[in-house]
Amino acid sequence: EEDAALLSDDGSGDLDDGPRGPLPVLAVVGRPNVGKSTLVNRIIGRREAVVEDVPGVTRDRVSYPATWAGRDFTLVDTGGWEKNVEGMAARVAEQAEIAVELADAVVFVVDATVGATATDEQVVRLLRRSKRPVVLVANKVDGPRQEADATELWSLGLGEPYPVSALHGRGTGDALDAAVKLLPEVSAVGGALPTGGPRRVALLGRPNVGKSSMLNKLAGSERVVVHPTAGTTRDPVDEMIELGGRTWRFVDTAGIRRRVHLTKGADFYASLRTQAALEKAEVAVVLLDSSAPLTEQDIRIVTTVVESGRALVLAYNKWDLTDEERRHYLEREIEKELVQTPWAPRVNVSAMTGRHLERLVPALDTALESWDSRIPTGRLNSFLGTVVAAHPHPVRGGKQPRILFGTQASTRPPRFVLFASGFLEAGYRRFLERRLREEFGFEGTPIEVSVRVRE
Ligand code: GDP
Ligand code: GDP
Repeated sequence: EEDAALLSDDGSGDLDDGPRGPLPVLAVVGRPNVGKSTLVNRIIGRREAVVEDVPGVTRDRVSYPATWAGRDFTLVDTGGWEKNVEGMAARVAEQAEIAVELADAVVFVVDATVGATATDEQVVRLLRRSKRPVVLVANKVDGPRQEADATELWSLGLGEPYPVSALHGRGTGDALDAAVKLLPEVSAVGGALPTGGPRRVALLGRPNVGKSSMLNKLAGSERVVVHPTAGTTRDPVDEMIELGGRTWRFVDTAGIRRRVHLTKGADFYASLRTQAALEKAEVAVVLLDSSAPLTEQDIRIVTTVVESGRALVLAYNKWDLTDEERRHYLEREIEKELVQTPWAPRVNVSAMTGRHLERLVPALDTALESWDSRIPTGRLNSFLGTVVAAHPHPVRGGKQPRILFGTQASTRPPRFVLFASGFLEAGYRRFLERRLREEFGFEGTPIEVSVRVRE
């Protein structure tokens, strides 16, 4: 898979860097056929010919890891979107709107040989309102003959147009240099995480639930590499633990091993630790005590994970202490109290005896796979079409809001943006979310569905 090849690395040599923030995001927007995809191909050095002169070319990917002038960033290509869905060719502003929402800076591409159109001007207004920094690219300036056309684009009021031929590479370097200069060090919009290296796991749970016992058991069963993270001289912050033949990075284990017994503010300290570990983690294992009733603190921790957008596995620890009666109540409790996460994989384990600890790895794999997953735009829209046809939104005040188009804006976790002709009621949004899960699974990951209303 292209994604995996681009994003993963072998994990060597990158153990010393601490948590980085999300990479900055650069979006390329513009009308269809101005050359956005040609430009994107040039930036990411994509070899395969995805740009075709055939209308209706479908592309499902929207973001790519990219590097220019020594800067790493995420590139969002809106080129494929309008071509995927029938009747959407004119919805350039909508696309730009999504892209801008996801981006720290924008490359706005105009076809210099055509000049600024009314649609271009509409996009300009949107870009102005968004207050995102913009580089204006006057494309298809294949030679000196088109330079004058480019100059005319000053009239758009976005500053100096960069004359470029995305096709031949002319001028693209200068335009991209300008674009990456506009990017912040760390994205202000993305919730993305550093990629590559071993998967990052946070072991969470209230005091005495068995975190350090589990850590010891996991580490004891197979090889452990304790790796001191840069900046800490003595305490290792994370631990590399081999499970199921692979290395996993258990983040912030120092906080688990260093048993701080604070009386005052212990709760606050614990929730800070949870937050900090989640910042660095991709997936959380929340330990619950199966021998005791679920507490408010347990529920708060689960909620924090869901809100952080990380993948989630529930581990019911101390299973050796449960009897049949307790197990019976446990199921009721889960149904009643953990209603927000019926999608989380669950393992019943004992950190003391080691029971079923081997089930942790498949559960982590499932959750991470869902967390990383991307639903192709075409498939999402045909699914939406079917669902909406069978269960249209109720008519309110003589009007019936329609869903025009949907796209998965990002992964980790999957985030969807739906464009609708009117406000969608909360109940209907929940219905759509439920159907999305029924159709696509997403076991182990929170998903997010947001709705944009077109006037
Ligand atoms: P998008 O819809 O904005 O992504 O546009 P594409 O990248 O698919 O390009 C649309 C058409 O314009 C394709 O036939 C490209 O080969 C062509 N094109 C793109 N950039 C240039 C350029 O710099 N010069 C010329 N002459 N044609 C270009
Ligand atoms: P932490 O505060 O979450 O790190 O919890 P600990 O690992 O220190 O465990 C708290 C207590 O629970 C200790 O006395 C452990 O021996 C005990 N404990 C942990 N896991 C299990 C288990 O699976 N079964 C039983 N019976 N006791 C456990």
